[in-house]
Amino acid sequence: MDNPPIIFISHGSPSLVLEDCAARDFLQRLGGELGTPRAIVAVSAHWASAAPAVTGAEQPETIHDFFGFPDALYRLRYPAPGAPEVAARVCELMRAGGFECEIDPRRGLDHGAWSPLLLMYPQAQIPVVQLAIQPHRGAAHHFALGAALAAIREQGILIMASGGATHNLGQIRGPGNGPAPKWVSAFADWLTGVIVEGRSAELVNYRRVAPYAAENHPSEEHFLPLIVAAGAAGEGARGRCLHSSYTYGVLSMASYAFDQGRDGN
Ligand code: ZN
Repeated sequence: MDNPPIIFISHGSPSLVLEDCAARDFLQRLGGELGTPRAIVAVSAHWASAAPAVTGAEQPETIHDFFGFPDALYRLRYPAPGAPEVAARVCELMRAGGFECEIDPRRGLDHGAWSPLLLMYPQAQIPVVQLAIQPHRGAAHHFALGAALAAIREQGILIMASGGATHNLGQIRGPGNGPAPKWVSAFADWLTGVIVEGRSAELVNYRRVAPYAAENHPSEEHFLPLIVAAGAAGEGARGRCLHSSYTYGVLSMASYAFDQGRDGN
């Protein structure tokens, strides 16, 4: 796979893989549509660290980082191999971009990474490394982090960011794909417009300029992976919406792709 796109996935509930919903159907098609990258760098909302860090395990474990879900979910494993050489390259790129970076030899894959990957690539044959986010550092830091990571694509490696287009867990309702309230759809519609039109500066300033930003993201960690993806695509890069649906009343499951890297690759 030459020049894989950069993708952002809204991963929804940890039980997504067990739910009959439009977003699951979409993810089950997506792997075949994307083709097979040489490796995947996953940027999940569920691994926060003080400074950038990358998983270096040869065989990362499956982390069940959630509570109170069906037993079937805890039995799932995603046995994709790690890729220590890719982790080392990611760290090199981070340092070249002016960031500290550590390789964590013990950390496994959290559900923000393995849940969508289990649907996209169920054979778990593609090596995966995870790159941590730093929620205390805000959006501009993560845009720069993405810019530093961008060159990894030249090696046929897919950047998969995983979070939530909207993510107010205090407002969730029962499962289902019904219409979202205005304060959710207004933000989600704004987001798609900004991505499709390449308004990356507004994306980075989303907390000040987007409608209902703080209501949809009381904390930032589920939005920041999207900023990493946009940063990897570059300033002004236009993306496309791969999928749009809602679940649990207020969770947008929107997913996006950026096809071009910073230099138009
Ligand atoms: Zn999550």
